[in-house]
Amino acid sequence: RFITLEGGEGSGKSTQARLLAEALSRRGLDVVRTREPGGSEGAELVRQILLSGAAEPFGTDVEALLFAAARGDHVDQLILPALATGHWVICDRFVDSTRVYQGAVGKVDIRLLRALERVVASAAVPDLTLILDLPPEVGLARAAVRGRGAVADRFEREGIAFHTAVREAFLAIAQTDPVRCKVIDASGEAETVAERVWDEVEGRLGA
Ligand code: C5P
Repeated sequence: RFITLEGGEGSGKSTQARLLAEALSRRGLDVVRTREPGGSEGAELVRQILLSGAAEPFGTDVEALLFAAARGDHVDQLILPALATGHWVICDRFVDSTRVYQGAVGKVDIRLLRALERVVASAAVPDLTLILDLPPEVGLARAAVRGRGAVADRFEREGIAFHTAVREAFLAIAQTDPVRCKVIDASGEAETVAERVWDEVEGRLGA
């Protein structure tokens, strides 16, 4: 069982990934929690390059290649082996982040992105994708409170219009793929959101 969490800045993906992993573990299930970009040794190296901005001079196409390289390593080294050994895999960001950040708002050619996705991720299609949805103002305020404002990576320095476009792009994906994707209201306390997440996951436990 492969579950991905998606959403904009401050939507609570990593907190929800942790709470969901804990809830599944309490049920006696084996769980691997991971994230992108990164999640495997090679992919974490590429993450450093991406988030530091070191690849910025090479442009968005090269950046998309780096995201794909990281994903390929992550899928091969961690996700597929974990699924093959009966683990649940909870991943903080996956292909939908690429479709949104590099594609919808990043303007990288969608044919390039589709080709890369096919090469690196066609063997790892999520069974369920939870899209944590929040007004961008709320998410950005949360991220600022966490102190991430001070150490914001280059992707977090964008304005409100950017974050609104990100939100709309995630919601558009959910509309086109309503079986795999569920939109979760990410407002309120973490525990409240975790209950909404659990409502979606619980029904799939025996599936
Ligand atoms: O999940 P987190 O917010 O830590 O992601 C790190 C940054 O990488 C985010 O600011 C996000 O905008 C960016 N990102 C991206 N394209 C992806 C995945 C993440 O631009 N495919």
